[in-house]
Amino acid sequence: MNKLLIATNNKGKGKEIRALLDDLKIELVTPADIHLNLDVSEDGRTYAENAAKKAIAFRRASGLVSLADDSGLEVDALDGAPGLFSARYSSKPGASDSDRRAFLLQNLRGKPRPWLARFRATIAIAVSENDVRPAEGECTGEIIPEERGAGGFGYDPIFLIPELNRTMAELEMDEKNRLSHRARAILNAKPILAKIFDL
Ligand code: IMP
Repeated sequence: MNKLLIATNNKGKGKEIRALLDDLKIELVTPADIHLNLDVSEDGRTYAENAAKKAIAFRRASGLVSLADDSGLEVDALDGAPGLFSARYSSKPGASDSDRRAFLLQNLRGKPRPWLARFRATIAIAVSENDVRPAEGECTGEIIPEERGAGGFGYDPIFLIPELNRTMAELEMDEKNRLSHRARAILNAKPILAKIFDL
């Protein structure tokens, strides 16, 4: 049976990736499904390094082909921050997504708008420890000073898609999954998965 481990503990990401891969004839499992409790430190210098590190660690621990994603938000007015540190961007320990959004807006206060930004995602698929295949995606937009919408996760409520005049958090999941950085990366990953699993 073709089985792929979605190598993330982030519930928001996991849900999106599962929906994006649903049309493939592969059984998708999460770390929770196989009772795997693994936390990989993200100390790489690039999204690709972090994604590969996570994919390899989960491949090793599970024995399953593993797909990991490393992603982040880059804001031009902050010289690309929070970038690689998006998940940990805060002034206090134990911060929530909402704390991180507030911290970002605090750092942007007084800077001229529009606050142009992009989400970036790199996927790594570990077939074996020595065979890791990457795919990338990007989505451009603008940070706005007030939160809008209740969907998605992370920075979605303050990330506006100017062409739609809606934030990522105002999109239904299937809409976000047509245009997000992760959706684009997964689209690029699909032919790779088709080859790996001989679909
Ligand atoms: P990591 O890939 O686990 O390092 O986490 C990346 C972080 O970037 C997440 O914890 C979010 O804060 C942020 N991020 C990545 N993708 C998205 C997204 O689709 N919406 C909102 N925030 C995101």
